[in-house]
Amino acid sequence: MQGQLDMEGALTARDRVGIQDFVLLDETTEAAFLSNLKKRFSKDLIYTYIGTLLVSVNPYKELDIYNKKQMDIYMGVNFFELPPHIYALADNAYHTMLTEFNNHFILISGESGAGKTEASKKILQYYAVSCPSTTLLNTVRDKMLMSNPVLEAFGNAKTLKNDNSSRFGKYMDIQFDSQGDAVGGHILNYLLEKSRVVHQNHGERNFHIFYQLVEGGSDDLLHQLGLERGCQHYNYLTQGQCPIVPSINDKNDWKTVKNALQIISFDETVIASVLHLGNVRFDSDSKGHALLNNNTELHWLLGVDAHRLQEGLTFRKIEAKKDQVLSPFTTDHAIYARDALAKAIYGQTFTWLVNRINESMENETVIGLLDIYGFEVFYVNSFEQFCINYCNEKLQQLFIELTLKSEQEEYEAEGIEWEPVQFFNNKIICDLIEEKHTGIISLLDEECLRPGDATDLTFLERLEEKMGNHPHFVTHKLADKMTRKTLERGDFRLLHYAGEVTYCVVGFLDKNNDLLYRNIKDLMCQSKNDIVKECFSSMDPDSRRRPETVVTQFKSSLQKLTEILVAKEAWYIRCLKSNESKQSGQFDEALIRHQVKYLGLMEHLRVRRAGFAYRRKYDVFLKRYKPLCPATWPHWRGVAADGVEVLVQHLGYLPDEYKMGRTKIFIRHPRTLFATEDAYEKC
Ligand code: ADP
Ligand code: MG
Repeated sequence: MQGQLDMEGALTARDRVGIQDFVLLDETTEAAFLSNLKKRFSKDLIYTYIGTLLVSVNPYKELDIYNKKQMDIYMGVNFFELPPHIYALADNAYHTMLTEFNNHFILISGESGAGKTEASKKILQYYAVSCPSTTLLNTVRDKMLMSNPVLEAFGNAKTLKNDNSSRFGKYMDIQFDSQGDAVGGHILNYLLEKSRVVHQNHGERNFHIFYQLVEGGSDDLLHQLGLERGCQHYNYLTQGQCPIVPSINDKNDWKTVKNALQIISFDETVIASVLHLGNVRFDSDSKGHALLNNNTELHWLLGVDAHRLQEGLTFRKIEAKKDQVLSPFTTDHAIYARDALAKAIYGQTFTWLVNRINESMENETVIGLLDIYGFEVFYVNSFEQFCINYCNEKLQQLFIELTLKSEQEEYEAEGIEWEPVQFFNNKIICDLIEEKHTGIISLLDEECLRPGDATDLTFLERLEEKMGNHPHFVTHKLADKMTRKTLERGDFRLLHYAGEVTYCVVGFLDKNNDLLYRNIKDLMCQSKNDIVKECFSSMDPDSRRRPETVVTQFKSSLQKLTEILVAKEAWYIRCLKSNESKQSGQFDEALIRHQVKYLGLMEHLRVRRAGFAYRRKYDVFLKRYKPLCPATWPHWRGVAADGVEVLVQHLGYLPDEYKMGRTKIFIRHPRTLFATEDAYEKC
């Protein structure tokens, strides 16, 4: 009778708020999946599990679930005992780290605007507030929390997809000592979208920091920097024609950022100099050579000689044997040199800031947080989108490798009976992009390095030659053979795992080369402004060597990132965008279905459902739980596997709840392990 009542209670709860773990869903169809997600979303329940993976749907409104009270509720409580929450995942990673003394990482993925950055902030806050604290450590905490507004101000901007879109990738290690105290943090930053400094598409803005400064800076400060109040005065701030964004309060944000910048002794002249640079114009003389049109106090801001700066912006220095020849620029060239300098100043300053925020400690366990730009498709897509989407292909590949693929391979290796689950492997697209000698990146670099007549269009021709038959590559020439949308001359299209994206090749070579004329660079190295000097001196010690192209640097940093991640235990948050118009309460079913599909959530669910939530090496399992059984305590004298068998028999595991592999025990439901863990805590 009692059981029946419970059943009924459970059923009503189920009807009311849906199921909190998709693994428990009656059927694993996409329709059932979406209907459960929708039901929960309509009740403001934005989190749902697939086993230990957390699915999050962007609510586009403030929910009252992120506060100290909620943090306390989730602290130290087993995963499945409470409603799904990002705190539960953060807490679980933390406690596993403490009990197993190993490193973890939390991979947050989803397309632009899906909620990744918000998720990473919630996790950081959870650790900052909930982990044990001693007053000594508060500085570390402050620093961890402070890094966010600064990096957001300098690295985020309004795009058409997201008013606060991350235009750089961020990987942060939160370092803990053996007591579980947060003792430090270390940030790695990835490819900042520097082109935004000098150009913004319609409806988009430059990085937040510029608007914050010219809107929020005090009269004194602006005067000191030679700036006018208001963004309308600056060319670099007005190209997108939307300086005012309702959801953003630049003035208020400046207050927070200003304080944080003071702590790390940042001086605003660098930001101001970029704005001044943007207002430098050029006329041409009778021979078509560039002349500097207005002489601002730029040299003073950058701490360099005015004459040499002017020369650097209008002449190129060519070294012929032992002589140096000055070759005058056309106005186009001069603008290019000016913009290149602005981008370099900003880019180097960003790296300087990250280094300032960092403090690294050795020999601690860490929880890594990865929040990187999401998959992105605009009306016009360029080199930046190519890099961002390539990065997302790589992360999807990592996810597939670590979950779907290795999971199934492990069952096979361990001799566990298993019905394989089919999934789409995007390795073919990663290879198309990055394969040595034959991938798109190699071809792009080749064109960049080829002396003579290489242009964006010759790059496209090379692509057409080499990739023409690839199933994920479409060009103008091939497009008419297919029923898909036609392509403009100068475009190529990639069929990414998350959908098709048409890229316009214009600018690919320039952006990939990212050239800064050497005489300008040398000049900046002699700057009297400490930050400018430090930034440029650290750029590339050997200025005679050709620096690596942007995309090649990016490729190797992603490779390094993958190596960092695979050495750690993984936790996943998959963020879904609920609608394109950033409205609360709107559940755009088609849009969400598409994301569920390409993120591989159904496959993940099938693997999870058919499989085992937990697995532990026999010796590790035995070492921890041997006190729970007289036959294994204090020592088990035989093979570890036999000891584990005796142990779980003693604990009353049912045959269906676990399987014995070659080297590990596999446990189907987390609650089985949790019961064991509880018993351990009590013994
Ligand atoms: P992403 O980093 O994936 O591009 P963001 O994390 O910047 O996306 O989220 C975009 C916007 O969506 C945020 O500025 C915020 O308005 C809203 N949002 C995202 N997650 C949440 C959340 N958990 N609660 C409330 N609003 C959210
Ligand atoms: Mg973001």
